[in-house]
Parts: sequence; C-alpha cells; structure tokens
Amino acid sequence: MIAPILRNRADLRAQTAIWRKADETIGVVPTMGALHQGHLSLARAARKKCDRVIVTIFVNPMQFNDPDDLRNYPRTEDADARKLESIGVDLIYVPDADQIYPHGFATTVSVSGLTDMLCGEARPGHFDGVATVVSKLFSQTSADFAFFGEKDYQQLQIVRRMAMDLDIPIEVIGCPTIREEDGLAMSSRNLLLSDRARVYAPVLAEVMESLREKLLAGAAMGDIYPESEARIMAAGFNKIDYLEMRDGVDLSLLQKAKPQARLFAAAWLAGVRLIDNIAV
Ligand code: AMP
Repeated sequence: MIAPILRNRADLRAQTAIWRKADETIGVVPTMGALHQGHLSLARAARKKCDRVIVTIFVNPMQFNDPDDLRNYPRTEDADARKLESIGVDLIYVPDADQIYPHGFATTVSVSGLTDMLCGEARPGHFDGVATVVSKLFSQTSADFAFFGEKDYQQLQIVRRMAMDLDIPIEVIGCPTIREEDGLAMSSRNLLLSDRARVYAPVLAEVMESLREKLLAGAAMGDIYPESEARIMAAGFNKIDYLEMRDGVDLSLLQKAKPQARLFAAAWLAGVRLIDNIAV
C-alpha cells in the first residue's frame, strides 16, 4: 500500500501524537526526493530499527545557492511514493513551502567550523539551509532516530553537531554510500547527466580508489594530487571544487593517511556537480 502523503504540519503532528501515545519509536529519513537505492537503503535501515518510519521529501530552497540548480532539481513525487511502497514506510511528509518557511520566517541555524570547508566553501550558505531545514524537520516529526547517508559525509557531521548543540533528543544514524555497479555514488543529480557524461562520471570514484591505495602505501597527498587532478580533467570534468584528505570527525586537513582519514571530492561534469567520499 502507498503510504499516506501529508502536506501540513498539523496533520503530521496529529499522527505522531498517536504514535507517541502508544510508546512507538519514530524514525525520520529526510530527502529531497528523486529517490534512488541510496535513499531506499536509509528507509530500510529506519524500517529495521523503528516502529514508525517517516520519509520527508522537500526540495529546500534555502540550501540552494544557485537558482538554476533549484529549478532543474528533479521532482518525481509519484514515482517516489511507489518506490517507498515496497519498504512499507508509515508516512510520507511532503510539506508545502509555507509549512517550513511561514510568512515572516526569520531564523537561521548555522553550525560554525565544520561548515567552513569542502562544500561549505564551494556553496556559501548551503549548510545553513541544511541545518535550518533539518532542525525544523526534527522538531516537526518529533522523531527518535534520523537516518542520513555517508554520501554527504560533511552534512552528516554537521547534522550530528547541530542536534547535539541544540539538545534535540534524536539519534543521528549514518548509513553507507550506495553505488552504481560501475562505482558511481548514487545521486539524484546523476539523472541530470547526459549519456556521454554518465560514461565518464565513475572516473571520480576510480581516482579516489587509486589515491587511497597510494595513501595507504605512505604517499603524501600533495605529491599524488597533480596526477589525480589530471586524470579527472582528462575524463572531461570541467572543474574540481576539492579533492582532499581530511579527518573523519573534525574534518581537519591531512597530508598523510591515519585512522579515520577520509577522501573527499567534488567536481563538475557537463554542468552537474558530483560529490563523493570514501574512508582511507
Ligand atoms: P538528498 O535527497 O540528496 O538530500 O539525500 C537525502 C539523504 O539520502 C541524505 O542523507 C543523503 O546523504 C542520502 N543519500 C543520497 N545518496 C546516497 C547514496 N548514494 N547512498 C546512501 N545515502 C545517500
């Protein structure tokens, strides 16, 4: 059965109040829709852990720093609802914009430090938009558990920090990145790639894998970066926003591999910005 779709927070609150009264745990999976196996893996993890599962779909204007990107973002609500059917989620929350940003909305949640680098540097304001909408979804759903993908690893760390700092009583659970067979990390943005660009997109993950091997063998990032950059650009990418090794917890920049080190990359291919990260 397709789960009920609710579009306003009063209806959502009425439903979660019933679940709370029955002492049922609630898991939330925040998404922007155009669901793929990566999103569905989060919904499955929630289904396994929680009595009740809410998937939210909201293309959050506040986290887009480029109006074209917002306009072109894929929207596939009917197909999304059908995909969630097989998992048996309890409710799909697709808030109307005024349910998140009512008239006169004036508050921004801003996490400092973790947002200064990587995507925070390349997309000014992006993580303020994420932290603001996620804090609202946490309070609107009153969930006990929230499921986020490691695919957006910086986002996961920022959301954890935000929930901790604001005393939001929710446990944030990170789930592994789901990939296509050729290694490309699944992303709603992959739908925007032309057939030709799609062929070359996996090169980003391939380069990261070979970087990892060299780093584990003792190489310094600075020494092997130029060759990796050249390989990515030769595959037809137009621009690399970053290709860096950082600590997996505080995201500080690293030159040499160490426990908890991760590689992070963001690069543009034919007008589409792809991101990826792997544990070293
Ligand atoms: P989005 O719809 O892109 O905002 O993503 C919603 C959630 O799905 C976020 O927690 C993402 O990290 C997660 N997600 C996106 N792609 C993947 C993937 N390939 N594997 C695992 N989780 C993912």
